[in-house]
Amino acid sequence: MSDTAKSLVIVGQGAAGLSAALYAAEAARERGERVRITLLEKAGEEEAGGNTRWSPSYMRMAAPDRVEPTFVDDMLAATGGRGDRAYFARLAAEAPATAAWIAGHGVEFHRPVYYLAKGPPRIQPVGGGPAIVRALVHAARSAGVELHYECSARRLVRGNRGDIRGIHVVQGSGAPETMHADAVILAAGGFQGDGVMMREHFGAGAESMPLISPGTRFNTGDGIRMAVEIGAAMSGEWSGMHSEPIDPRAKNSAPVVLVYPYGIVVDRNGRRIFDEGGGLVHETWEKFSRDIHFATPGREVYAILDSRLFAIQSYQRAIRSEVPPAQADTLDDLAKQIGVDAANLTATVAAYNAAATGDPARFDATVCDGLAAARTLHPPKSNWARAITEPPFVAYPLIGAVAYTFGGIATNERAEVLGSSGDAPIPGLYAAGEITGHFYGTAPNAVSVLRAFVFGRIAGREAVSYFGR
Ligand SMILES: Cc1cc2nc3c(=O)[nH]c(=O)nc-3n(C[C@H](O)[C@H](O)[C@H](O)COP(=O)(O)OP(=O)(O)OC[C@H]3O[C@@H](n4cnc5c(N)ncnc54)[C@H](O)[C@@H]3O)c2cc1C
Repeated sequence: MSDTAKSLVIVGQGAAGLSAALYAAEAARERGERVRITLLEKAGEEEAGGNTRWSPSYMRMAAPDRVEPTFVDDMLAATGGRGDRAYFARLAAEAPATAAWIAGHGVEFHRPVYYLAKGPPRIQPVGGGPAIVRALVHAARSAGVELHYECSARRLVRGNRGDIRGIHVVQGSGAPETMHADAVILAAGGFQGDGVMMREHFGAGAESMPLISPGTRFNTGDGIRMAVEIGAAMSGEWSGMHSEPIDPRAKNSAPVVLVYPYGIVVDRNGRRIFDEGGGLVHETWEKFSRDIHFATPGREVYAILDSRLFAIQSYQRAIRSEVPPAQADTLDDLAKQIGVDAANLTATVAAYNAAATGDPARFDATVCDGLAAARTLHPPKSNWARAITEPPFVAYPLIGAVAYTFGGIATNERAEVLGSSGDAPIPGLYAAGEITGHFYGTAPNAVSVLRAFVFGRIAGREAVSYFGR
């Protein structure tokens, strides 16, 4: 046991930062190491928790004690083969122990009912993200972690040997100050809340992309900038983000409307814009919501369905907007209500209905049912192509909202931050969660929270081991 306490500073109080802080405290106690652990959080205490606090926190596990045997290959497939196998293998290996650890802190898991579409198996903490944040904040405090709210990390300080020696912070409206740190764990999320970075990586208009939850705005790329400034390598797809279609009228957080595959989607000119039935909803929502924002006039579209929506079993599970849809007995009236060109909408629905020649008895909202429209239809509709004929006709307006970005800091399977020259880790610097760049192409479903917890814990343990070296 060393004589002087080492100082570990963690930036961000979401899933990654909380698990890093708490697990570091537990690891230090177990090893008899004296470590002072400080968690810095930019938001006030009431709003702290970043994306995690607003997330239902579905986790891609077959049960709390196992992931699917194909997990690692599935991750690599989602990244188009560009992901780091060692990273995803470590994620798979440590997921059960991490879920057990969370449960040990009083959070139970269950198998959630998901939207409508079947997908990979998931577990969910009862009470979602807020329940985990509450439980782990309580446990971290009891374990001696010091929590500083309204405290924004700005810059890292390195010593002569390139190791971490401190961090510049701003507490409230105070002047910048330097806090001593022998190691730092960055867990400050992605850059979706920073208009300048969004525009730089996604192009014009990205700065106005709506944020999916109130907690999303705190993730402004600070941790990424701090790490890159001292020579960290960048990784992940910088033009990649996870986004979903939401109802712009709603006041709820993340008011997603995921019934669009079962009808058609038109722009404000009344024209269809894509294959609404191109896959299960979690396979199409990212590209769809992005196209709404970047490639559609007015950045808004309308999902058009008929009264058979209400006959789909548990259709409400796929709608998190608290605002009812527009409804009318004629397409003309519906178009007027939502401000869409009425003649075009009527013509679009007529063309779609003429192509919806398959047997409607095949319709099954939970799987890709193969009920495709005739090939003459452009854009095509590959599944769920039932004619829209039964009033009242129904419309939901939709916009695209960003949840998190993919580009970030390069880390290895020990959560060490890699330097840009030669891949060697930067001594004393760790990172976990959204801030790390491991996603490419599309976000693997229900993995962002899981990886934040798993690599948060790994970072906490590795930082304590680093002090013992
Ligand atoms: C509505 C919604 C639903 C979601 N659903 C799911 C789901 O079901 N499953 C899933 O896997 N993922 C889901 N996600 C994504 C997932 O929640 C996040 O990617 C994950 O929780 C990120 O955890 P994190 O700890 O890395 O970041 P966060 O939880 O975002 O925490 C980052 C923290 O860092 C703080 N911070 C930022 N900058 C600084 C600074 N300079 N100094 C100090 N603190 C700073 C922020 O205030 C924030 O508290 C969802 C996201 C949202 C918003």
